Amino acid sequence: MHDRLDRPLRSLRLSVTDRCNLRCQYCMPEPDYAWLPRESILDFEEIAVLVDAFASLGVDRIRLTGGEPLLRRDLASLVELLAARPAIRDLALTTNGVLLARQARALRAAGLHRLTVSLDTLRRDRFQAIARFDELPAVLAGIDAAAEAGFTSLKIDTVVMRGRNDDELEALLAFGARAGAEVRFIEYMDVGGATHWSSDAVVSRREMLARLSGVYGPIQPLSGRDSSPAERFLLPDGTTFGIIASTTEPFCAACDRSRLTADGLWLLCLYARGGLDLRHPLREGATHGELAHLISTVWAMRADRGAEERLGSSARDVLIPVAALKRDAHLEMHTRGG
Ligand code: SAM
Repeated sequence: MHDRLDRPLRSLRLSVTDRCNLRCQYCMPEPDYAWLPRESILDFEEIAVLVDAFASLGVDRIRLTGGEPLLRRDLASLVELLAARPAIRDLALTTNGVLLARQARALRAAGLHRLTVSLDTLRRDRFQAIARFDELPAVLAGIDAAAEAGFTSLKIDTVVMRGRNDDELEALLAFGARAGAEVRFIEYMDVGGATHWSSDAVVSRREMLARLSGVYGPIQPLSGRDSSPAERFLLPDGTTFGIIASTTEPFCAACDRSRLTADGLWLLCLYARGGLDLRHPLREGATHGELAHLISTVWAMRADRGAEERLGSSARDVLIPVAALKRDAHLEMHTRGG
């Protein structure tokens, strides 16, 4: 199953809730938000039916996300349902880590393969300034608990912002090495919801590499990126890390990712203005075959290259104004799932 740019349908990011227990400045900076209606949120059986339709067309990697996925009640049961599907070869979860200490063991037991924890700073005052909750100790406890629960290939995702946390790259790498986690630095993106975004605040991949090689010496690129958004590198001391350069050097040509919101809207690109509503056909009794047909028809027409188009736009500024976000929550990053 390939799209018009010959990209396969492989990775699905499943947002299980639009709610979050942090208010990160780069994602949810506004004072209030409109939430998806409760009755529109897919239940676990509905998610599993859709996953089966996607899997029959080639999806074999799933990442659970949100919002904050650990806020979804009984998430381990969904993990168990999905882990039982042999077609899903890779089952991962992205979390802010606040609730991880109490859930890591259950998630592991339920069959979750991999975990990524978002962590932008190691300084408590900064954490509070960026995420607007004093939860750094809880996140650090969550990372410890994840390692104890047996998650070995832990990743830490850091959104790098000029003047906010860009002086912590080395400290985060050292922390990752101690914690047995690979750090990935993400360029600040102008996604929907990033209403405080400005190009000045972006620290580019090029700048990060220049700075790190000034500190550590020559940095070696590692091969084997395939469709992953992160490019990986090796420091002279043996530490590996990644950079996700979606803003300055996007990689749309290899993008096999799509996203399903918690209420069943299927988005073909992080930057897409709209998507395919799968909740209505599902709730109206569409069969597995009908759902698969819908999905394959839409994927076959996909030609999205949102990040590359953004790169080409002159006078790049905030992508979607607050008023438009208020009218349509589906435009928000926290609804789409990062
Ligand atoms: N709550 C979970 C978490 O914090 O990991 C999952 C959802 S969050 C939206 C997923 C990822 O999106 C996080 O790593 C977050 O840092 C990233 N993200 C959100 N807004 C971003 C932006 N403007 N630029 C780059 N990354 C962003």
